[in-house]
Amino acid sequence: MSQITIALSKGRIFEETVPLLQAAGIVPAEDPESSRKLIIGTNRDDVRLIIVRASDVPTYVENGGADLGIAGKDVLYEHGGVGLYQPLDLQIARCKMMVAVREGYDYTAVARPGARLKVATKYTKIAREHFAAKGMHVDLIKLYGSMELAPLVGLADAIVDLVSTGGTLRANHLVAVEEIMPISSRLVINQASLKLKRSQIQPIIDAFAGAVTPGK
Ligand code: ATP
Ligand code: MG
Repeated sequence: MSQITIALSKGRIFEETVPLLQAAGIVPAEDPESSRKLIIGTNRDDVRLIIVRASDVPTYVENGGADLGIAGKDVLYEHGGVGLYQPLDLQIARCKMMVAVREGYDYTAVARPGARLKVATKYTKIAREHFAAKGMHVDLIKLYGSMELAPLVGLADAIVDLVSTGGTLRANHLVAVEEIMPISSRLVINQASLKLKRSQIQPIIDAFAGAVTPGK
């Protein structure tokens, strides 16, 4: 039997993937939150997990560093998803990609064709396409985290970021003003692996599919 490698990121994706793995008869040997190991074995000799940054999951799977992976739509959209087979929306790590501004900022007054906006975000592709579709001109400022800070210090008029409860926005006196797209995580598969290791991969896909809790 060949070795099957599954790329996962720590945090909510790992936590919400554990029940799906369980449904496929896969139990991680260690918790990546407390272990420093980047390769984690499982109860199955033919299955191992690798722990990578969320935004690196598509790269590992695309290039064969992993056969399977789980990645957010945000990450897949920014990456492009080329060369990846994406059979399943797992409905985990659900949130929304949103535009947010400072409380009191009149977004409706500027959100019209021809207007110009300074936007700070990690998600430059999503932001560029969203504002282009609205006919707006944007100066994009690429950040790697703590986007909420940008409007507070005058770096940007707006941010494009993931929002779930809105707690972080509220704590920083920001408000979400526009939803760009709903986000959840998908199973991604290396296309060559799917052909060569189908007998091992297909049962995992089927087990995940059976364990998905449909979204609202
Ligand atoms: P890194 O930690 O490597 O910089 P990151 O901080 O972008 O990456 P996380 O915040 O751990 O990564 O998020 C990983 C994935 O979880 C995201 O790509 C997204 O799909 C999803 N996610 C992010 N924020 C939320 C949220 N608030 N609620 C639900 N899912 C989220
Ligand atoms: Mg993180």
